[in-house]
Amino acid sequence: MTQHPGKPAGLSDPHELDLFEFARSGRQAAGVVRVSQLPRMLNEVPAEAPDRDTAFTWQAEGTTQPELQDDGTEGPQPYLRLAIHGAAWLECQRCLTPYSQAFNVDATYRIVSTEAETEEFPLDEDEVEVIVGSRQFDLIDLIEEELLLSLPLVPKHEVCPEVHESLVSGADGDEAAQDEAGDASGPEQSNERRHPFAALERLKRDEPGGKKR
Ligand SMILES: [Zn+2]
Repeated sequence: MTQHPGKPAGLSDPHELDLFEFARSGRQAAGVVRVSQLPRMLNEVPAEAPDRDTAFTWQAEGTTQPELQDDGTEGPQPYLRLAIHGAAWLECQRCLTPYSQAFNVDATYRIVSTEAETEEFPLDEDEVEVIVGSRQFDLIDLIEEELLLSLPLVPKHEVCPEVHESLVSGADGDEAAQDEAGDASGPEQSNERRHPFAALERLKRDEPGGKKR
């Protein structure tokens, strides 16, 4: 549908982008990518999610900055800025039901030519990441990588629906949510009774993660 036979479009194919040229000529591009196009992201979406194929919008911008090169001369160092916004359904680790997680990525990359150069660059400098560019760079793959890195350590509701109910009854939030999830299946619950320390173990395990956010 959007074929431009005469003049090349702003971005030919985000799977095969000439990243060096993109940066050197200060180009910009934007698009939409769906979770169904990102197999590793799709793995994170529970089967019972209301919508497994949510969309992310992305914007990319290439720039260069004069920097001292290896040969001692000043040359244009290519950079890429990438922003991604959207949401995906994840499974809440507290109540085990799906919830919608927002993603807002804004990353800057220093584009280098070889894998060896990524190691030369001091890692803790600013917020800049280092990527190896290419003439057929897969921008969609980078978007997926960045989304995977943005996954919460412990995906969960801010307030689980179950926890909310249990607060009314005065029970401890996390434990009540776990129990309620167990109520669905009888055998699991009796199993729980045979192992009275299981809940305690789980509580201990949950604690550090729970306090992180
Ligand atoms: Zn929850």
